[in-house]
Amino acid sequence: MTLEEIQEQDHRYLMQTYRRFPVALVSGHGATAVDCNGKEYIDFTSGIGVNSLGYCDERWTRAVAKQAATLQHTSNLYYQPMQTKLAEKLCALTGFSKVFFGNSGAEANECAVKVARKYAADKYGKNRCRIVTLRNSFHGRTLTTLAATGQDAFHEKFTPLTQGFSYAFPNMDSVKENVSGDTCAVMIELVQGEGGVLPLKDGFVKELAAFCGERDILLIVDEVQTGVGRTGKLYCFQNYGVMPDILTSAKGLGGGLPVGACLCTGRLGGVMDAGSHGSTFGGNPVVCAGALAVLDVVGDGGFLREVREKGAYLTEKLSAMEEIEFVRGLGMMLGAKLKKGSAKEAAQKCAESGLLVLTAKELLRFLPPLTIAYEDIDKGLAVLQKVIRTLK
Ligand code: PLP
Repeated sequence: MTLEEIQEQDHRYLMQTYRRFPVALVSGHGATAVDCNGKEYIDFTSGIGVNSLGYCDERWTRAVAKQAATLQHTSNLYYQPMQTKLAEKLCALTGFSKVFFGNSGAEANECAVKVARKYAADKYGKNRCRIVTLRNSFHGRTLTTLAATGQDAFHEKFTPLTQGFSYAFPNMDSVKENVSGDTCAVMIELVQGEGGVLPLKDGFVKELAAFCGERDILLIVDEVQTGVGRTGKLYCFQNYGVMPDILTSAKGLGGGLPVGACLCTGRLGGVMDAGSHGSTFGGNPVVCAGALAVLDVVGDGGFLREVREKGAYLTEKLSAMEEIEFVRGLGMMLGAKLKKGSAKEAAQKCAESGLLVLTAKELLRFLPPLTIAYEDIDKGLAVLQKVIRTLK
């Protein structure tokens, strides 16, 4: 099919919820995507942080294909070894004790909210249901995760949302103003991704963790975007030296298949009992096989060191570009502010020139596959440099 035919079909049959680039991707290998005309693109997006091992990594495709040909699905009424292996591996690598599997970041966050509310309801009564999140955060598109998202623009016309959320600025005074005896949890992203690749300050996170710990308020860390090696540690909380009570993971965990995971510490392990939660596809064996292949690679200390090195390399090269005002982020989750022109225009022109990049607020955002070769980083940066030189 031609691009025009695909676009026509899209406009005719799909709800127009996405502002798409005029590009139709049909295949990929490593950090290279290929469109319907055979044109190649260096991909600095990895499907918004999903394809952590790049396109069609051999280890990942082999594991997924093998599982698809063995048992593609079974309901959660039966035990299933791929699911148990993945849960064990996640716990061993992170220090958490129990996992619930869903299909997306939003679903992982929904589970986190339910765990926090049930923990507090069991222990303190059902009034202790309030959750503080941060302004400028992004936690998903379901009605509860929209409510958790501290950006009014996402709420408009979808009210009434789930009740019980309030939004603090990322400082302790503001958190304290928002916390009351009815607060059961504080939920944060350690690097606000959609909010503009904004890392939280180390001191604030440590103080917040201690504050929550003293009051038995659960600290939920949303690592849907920062997780699975993206920031140079397996999970970003490991950069901050705090232990959340609940962690959510999705995107990069599946390496390209839909997965969401909500992890909790030992004392919360028994909060959710039979019948309190569920998901038809949660912990699907094919998805779990893919995630296990991802963790086999990304869970390795040497691999994570390389991610940090490549992140430092990208940061250095981007910072050296005259047209870039500043670069921020952690590991291979980076944002760059342009001195001239808009990030959207730059992303559009990059796509025309064979480079896929993202934007976040007024920044260009880079989430390359963690396996990207230096050669491909250089190729992508050369396209970017050419494009941003032309911006006015
Ligand atoms: N939380 C964070 C931090 C995210 O970045 C996203 C998606 O961008 C989500 C939650 C929602 O994830 P999903 O789109 O898989 O529901």
